[in-house]
Amino acid sequence: MLKGGNMEHVSDADLRRRQRQIAAEIANIGFCLPGSLVERTGRCGNAGCSCHSDPSRRHGPYRSWTRRVAGKTTTRNLTPEQAQTYEPWFDNAARLHHLVRELEHLGAIAAARAEGWAEPPQPPPDRRRRAPAADPSGRGAA
Ligand SMILES: [Zn+2]
Repeated sequence: MLKGGNMEHVSDADLRRRQRQIAAEIANIGFCLPGSLVERTGRCGNAGCSCHSDPSRRHGPYRSWTRRVAGKTTTRNLTPEQAQTYEPWFDNAARLHHLVRELEHLGAIAAARAEGWAEPPQPPPDRRRRAPAADPSGRGAA
């Protein structure tokens, strides 16, 4: 991706090329799921079970899908098979959000150049837990 630090060295053609790369990647990104895939352990209903006295004996880990629906946190427990099936969809969502932020940053640079405004600062850091996929352009993200 293009980094915000040295935008004076990035040509307008580079900006347009990166914009087209992002558009092509978004076109192929597949299904996305909102929220996150979390892993947790739990205690059962049996008060005599060691899971109640020893945190290391808690059951699980279980994986679940947590998201906000109408302002409320909603959790759906997933079987191992479901977690395996849908994990890439969470990765796709993280990648999509990353690409959209980069596209917005490119747009802010392009507008600033066209209008003679001071170029925008570096975009805010990724707040999502999962790291975005490697840059498939091979140009590196140094
Ligand atoms: Zn138990």
